[in-house]
Amino acid sequence: RKDGGELWAMISTNSIRDGQGGFAGVLAMVADITDRKRMEETLRRLATQDSLTGLFNRRYFFAVAKREFQRSQRYGHSLALLLLDIDYFKRINDAYGHRAGDQVLRTVAGIMRNGLRQVDIPCRYGGEEFVMLLPETPLDTAIAVAQRLGATLAATPISTEKGPLPVTVSIGVAGLINGESLTLDLLLERADQAMYTAKQAGRNRVQVWRSD
Ligand code: GH3
Ligand code: MG
Ligand code: MG
Repeated sequence: RKDGGELWAMISTNSIRDGQGGFAGVLAMVADITDRKRMEETLRRLATQDSLTGLFNRRYFFAVAKREFQRSQRYGHSLALLLLDIDYFKRINDAYGHRAGDQVLRTVAGIMRNGLRQVDIPCRYGGEEFVMLLPETPLDTAIAVAQRLGATLAATPISTEKGPLPVTVSIGVAGLINGESLTLDLLLERADQAMYTAKQAGRNRVQVWRSD
């Protein structure tokens, strides 16, 4: 634009012929479709993101995770899943209200996002449950990521309108073991079992899925 701003345009052109069928010029039409593009962008964001935390939503997670999972399995690459659940979250809501609870969810999501690589896929999986897909990541690296995340959260009380609140999480970790034929659902189930074991063992910890 004259003012230096940018616009999205759709340009259609048609050649113009003279009486003898010769080329006489071109008629071009430029339509400003900036609003339409903006709307598309908003729709795309709504379709892929969770509105409270800005993390990917469950639907987008499954779409991307299935692809990553199949790729890893086909090429024998490593891949790991973290399933993270906030400890005693109900108490936070009950004692400080839903708004403070939402602030906690947003901050937990932000801390998750900070520690990740570009290729990792963090998602809000349920109310106060998050899942992270770590492509090309061996199990021991995934455990280290989970431990760092858990430690960071435990060390930083979260600011809310009701003051700083201490929050801890329990994290279940499961990884693709080379040569084993698995499904994404089964890997998620394993991470969930591990997370449950972490809760049983007293919370604020990382648990790795084991086959016994
Ligand atoms: P545990 O340590 O066993 O995980 O206990 P918990 O209290 O965290 O677990 P539980 O599953 O019993 O409670 C989850 C609570 O999360 C229940 C629900 O009120 C709350 N919750 C779910 N979604 C939201 C949300 O979007 N915002 C807020 N503020 N709370 C939510
Ligand atoms: Mg839960
Ligand atoms: Mg919980």
